Amino acid sequence: MNTNLKYLDDTYANTDEAVVLRIGRDDRGSYIVLNQTIFYPQGGGQPADTGFVQSGQTVMNISFVGFSDGEVLHYVDEEPPVFDMLVGRLCELSVDLPRRLEHAKLHTSGHLIAGIIDKQKGSMRAVKGFHFPEGSYVEFEGKPEGDTDALLVDLQARIDSLIGESPRVLTSMVTHSELKQHCLNIPSQLPQDKPLRIVTIDSLDSVPCGGTHVASLAELEAVSVLKIKSKKGCTKISYRVGKEG
Ligand SMILES: [Zn+2]
Repeated sequence: MNTNLKYLDDTYANTDEAVVLRIGRDDRGSYIVLNQTIFYPQGGGQPADTGFVQSGQTVMNISFVGFSDGEVLHYVDEEPPVFDMLVGRLCELSVDLPRRLEHAKLHTSGHLIAGIIDKQKGSMRAVKGFHFPEGSYVEFEGKPEGDTDALLVDLQARIDSLIGESPRVLTSMVTHSELKQHCLNIPSQLPQDKPLRIVTIDSLDSVPCGGTHVASLAELEAVSVLKIKSKKGCTKISYRVGKEG
């Protein structure tokens, strides 16, 4: 692991410093690798953070952040003239905080919906989430047992109730064996090149997750379930943060 993933520690930290380990270029563009980062690299259904990296008077706009082989790649919109001389330099990092928090809310809401359904131990099991602002959903293996309208009404009531209780969203770094002890629903493939972390919301089952979360469900204020759709043995539940309508 070359880049220390500091976004795992604090969702709300949007400024920091880091040293440039190397620069590179690939099909997507030119990128910077830092010794540590507060930028979330796109993955796990959550979009990348955006922001700025500044070295001296040189300010670089970061429009995409990816993860590859234990490194976080910060893609710059445009190479500055000093780009090849940045290695070893200290930089200031600044993440677009409103965008980060919107993603953290959407992502935490996905856990809420997946956790409530999984907790019921019914015919559906959460397998993935898509937490982009347009078209957020949680995908499940299996189909609802009964009437889907009734399921949506029940799910919405449980969401409202849990948000009303405002439990904290807890995370902890774990080893592989600890993860297996704490989590019932473990994805078939866990990332091999990232630290492992579990997230726990109230009495819902703990799940492995390397995304960014809000500290308390109170910050969501409201989550609205929009629709439920089953196809070929899979079910998608769409949602958005905020009240419906
Ligand atoms: Zn998560």
